[in-house]
Amino acid sequence: MGKVYLVGAGPGAPDLLTLRAARLLEAADVVFHDALVHPETIALAKRARVIDVGKRYGKVSTEQRFIHRALVAAARKHALVVRLKGGDPMLFGRAQEELDALAAAGIEAEAVPGITAALGAASSLGVSLTRRGIARTVAFLTPRVGRGETASEWLPAALGADSIALYMAAGASASISAALVEAGKPAGTPVVLVENATLANESRTFTTLGALLAADLPRAEGPVVMLVGDVFRESARAAGNPLPEPATRRTA
Ligand code: SAH
Repeated sequence: MGKVYLVGAGPGAPDLLTLRAARLLEAADVVFHDALVHPETIALAKRARVIDVGKRYGKVSTEQRFIHRALVAAARKHALVVRLKGGDPMLFGRAQEELDALAAAGIEAEAVPGITAALGAASSLGVSLTRRGIARTVAFLTPRVGRGETASEWLPAALGADSIALYMAAGASASISAALVEAGKPAGTPVVLVENATLANESRTFTTLGALLAADLPRAEGPVVMLVGDVFRESARAAGNPLPEPATRRTA
């Protein structure tokens, strides 16, 4: 019986990978990877059979059920199986379902953390999500609800946090901004949409909740993380996009 490692590949740049992840990839017999993983990261798996189970923009995805079965089958045949996921495997990565399926089949499994997209984006912007005096709380959330799941109440969590990182959200940025403003978040609150964070083709759009209300942004080619909060006011100014002053100022 082999062991399965659920490994975080980091946000994009291939050198934002843990040493543990690199060593496991080098030793792996089989690697199942997602669509967002950099080819250089996959290339570390020199001796492995590499299987792409990723999905991207409506292209047919490998069904989760199939992935579970394939992981179990691989672990019955091989000593070291790596399931490579973008960012951190345990954040919006369906890791728990895979861990549960492996446990149910009696297969040993372990997760290896990675740098999540929002933290990669914050570093490349040079903006701390917990900048002293402005923000003490960060919410990682997604308004995306999977088929058959009950809708989660993301709004109170977003309102309760000083900085918000929204995953799988860029396609719905107008309705998200509308919900936040309607619930009382100032329309002048800065928003940065970071596409392809940490990669050579990273791009940033500096805007505000109020400006985003008007229309959804054009569909991006790459993955986008939406960051919201007063911590981004100065970086927007530095990038040449002065934003209106906030309607209400938070006291530290
Ligand atoms: N487990 C991953 C998240 C998977 S959900 C992590 O921890 O980062 C997929 C979402 O992650 C995308 O819709 C996007 O919001 C975000 N994302 C992943 N890679 C990204 C990147 N390089 N730049 C911007 N956003 C990214």
